[in-house]
Amino acid sequence: MLGFEDRVAVAVSGGKDSLSLLHVLAKLERSFPKASLVAITVDEGIRGYRDEALKIAASNCRELGIEHEVVSFKELFGLTLDEVVKRLHRKRSESLTSCACCGVLRRKALNLAARKVGANKIATGHTLDDETQTILLNIFHGDVLRLAREKPVTDEVHPKLVQKIKPFCEIPEKETALYAYVRKIKFQSRPCPFASEALRNDVRAMLDKVEENRAGVKYTIFRSIERIRPALEELDKREGLTECSECGEPTSEKVCRTCQILKQMTRSA
Ligand SMILES: [Zn+2]
Repeated sequence: MLGFEDRVAVAVSGGKDSLSLLHVLAKLERSFPKASLVAITVDEGIRGYRDEALKIAASNCRELGIEHEVVSFKELFGLTLDEVVKRLHRKRSESLTSCACCGVLRRKALNLAARKVGANKIATGHTLDDETQTILLNIFHGDVLRLAREKPVTDEVHPKLVQKIKPFCEIPEKETALYAYVRKIKFQSRPCPFASEALRNDVRAMLDKVEENRAGVKYTIFRSIERIRPALEELDKREGLTECSECGEPTSEKVCRTCQILKQMTRSA
């Protein structure tokens, strides 16, 4: 995942997973003089929640001596997540959830920020728990080809898409939490007020229950997908990415998902 001369942008939300990752990478990076780290925090604009996380992220970066870049939905897209959610409610949208919108906008924001700071990799704090939940969710949604695309190290499919890596993909969440406690890392423990992925919560509870009785099940699920991924990739011969006709960013459609969502938002305003 990591090279000697990488400039790695670490996506830091302010939670325990991303901050543990920042501390681990900061420790590793000291032995590699040609590599560098920069932390990126996306300010979605969630009043009373993100402000606290931003302070925590900033103080960890200061402590570690790591450059910290903050990008906001408001400055990039003209809307805060609070405003997006308000509009979603007004439209009574059922197909688009706040988490889905936020995910699309955040991925784009991260990619733009990573390019701005000259990073060649984006590291995220996804744990084994996140990965296995996502695997089952993709199956529950019938979205099996996504299993091929969402992998621990993404392919370099377009020069404008910064490669993403998930160094904690085989580490259980309990261990990243333990690391944060042992190292006395300050992190935000409150969940996002908009967290509304009901199905993910069910899947999490189910996996935790099974893991409790059969330790290692999460890891087995993760490894199973790793093993069948080459076959899935054969199935998923993707058309090449083009550039969005609105914003010029890479997309598989004519207009990228971010621009589609933003258009929908302004139309409903
Ligand atoms: Zn676009």
